[in-house]
Amino acid sequence: MKIHEYQGKELLQKFQVPVPAGGVAATPEEARQVAETLEAGPFVVKAQIHAGGRGKGGGIQTAATPEEVEDVASRILGMTLITPQTGPEGRYVKTVLVEQAQDIAQELYLGIVVDRSLARPVIMMSAAGGMEIEEVAARTPELIVKEAVDPLLGLMPYQARNLAFGVGLPPELLRPATGFITNLYRMFVALDCSLAEINPLVVTKDGHMLALDAKINLDDNALFRHHDLAALEDPDEMDPLENEARKHHLNYIRLTGNIGAMVNGAGLAMATMDATPEMIANGFRIILSDPRVKVVLINIFGGLLRCDRLAAGVIQAAREVDVRAPIIIRLEGTNVEEGRQLLNESGLTFTVAEDMQDAARKVAALVQ
Ligand code: ADP
Ligand code: MG
Repeated sequence: MKIHEYQGKELLQKFQVPVPAGGVAATPEEARQVAETLEAGPFVVKAQIHAGGRGKGGGIQTAATPEEVEDVASRILGMTLITPQTGPEGRYVKTVLVEQAQDIAQELYLGIVVDRSLARPVIMMSAAGGMEIEEVAARTPELIVKEAVDPLLGLMPYQARNLAFGVGLPPELLRPATGFITNLYRMFVALDCSLAEINPLVVTKDGHMLALDAKINLDDNALFRHHDLAALEDPDEMDPLENEARKHHLNYIRLTGNIGAMVNGAGLAMATMDATPEMIANGFRIILSDPRVKVVLINIFGGLLRCDRLAAGVIQAAREVDVRAPIIIRLEGTNVEEGRQLLNESGLTFTVAEDMQDAARKVAALVQ
């Protein structure tokens, strides 16, 4: 689950990771009020959307006075912000973060991710802050310092020092840097993060280290033990069809293309076992509400799930939903003959395919 920068910064503060003073606002007046609570300007007004690269699209602007903050906020709020990460459709901005502008001496990168091949959290730090880490990795990988953490031992003090030394920080910044890294790692573990990325982590001209940006992703599978964090979800930032699917406990991924696919797999087979005709109907409805879908392919291997049971579910669902596109079904497995017979005799226009190849051929013929 992704959260907004301002939410990420609130979490960072709870773990003693320093962030600029600031606050969130949903209206220009609120933005001015936040600025009035801060020290004298300049201030920065930052669009809150789940995408980076905001500066380039005009989503991050400075303002000298609280009045100017109000003015800038009125232009950013309500805008459809297009950045390299939003796609051409952009994102609607409904909140801004107003914070104290920092006098930046240096921008660094600090990120923690789970490295699946190592089965460990990996902390990455780089002196090339402000740039996408993928870009740094491709062009100047020598600028990235990495430490893999043994989850049973936790982050060792020498690892935090290696990172801080490795990016060339001067001696007086080693203690604040190791403290910063240690606290970010504590948060990563405590909140079951899947990503904690501070880009940039800045050193200010007066020698402080601050998280200027915060990209915190939380592991969906761990949200059951963080009820307070689940509330940070912003449905407006999610694909509406994916939202709808979640409500019905369906796994739905919106891809490009014009073939809607209803399928099962190892874990899904267990879920499909308990699938009611209502769930199948919801699945149909969600797939068909994507206007690009010209044909639906149902490809199910019935092991635990008996094919006749599935066929009965599909038939009932097809009666409930306005099925506007042709449906091709490929069934295989337990009770497959009974399943096919039910479909053929349903009076509904399903095309039952012989096997996977046949199904693919029939689907391709229909979309062309
Ligand atoms: P994004 O990742 O979406 O581009 P960031 O929060 O990383 O947004 O900000 C982009 C740039 O804007 C930073 O690299 C920094 O130069 C500047 N910036 C952001 N917040 C502040 C701030 N509080 N004070 C000064 N400059 C800032
Ligand atoms: Mg950033």
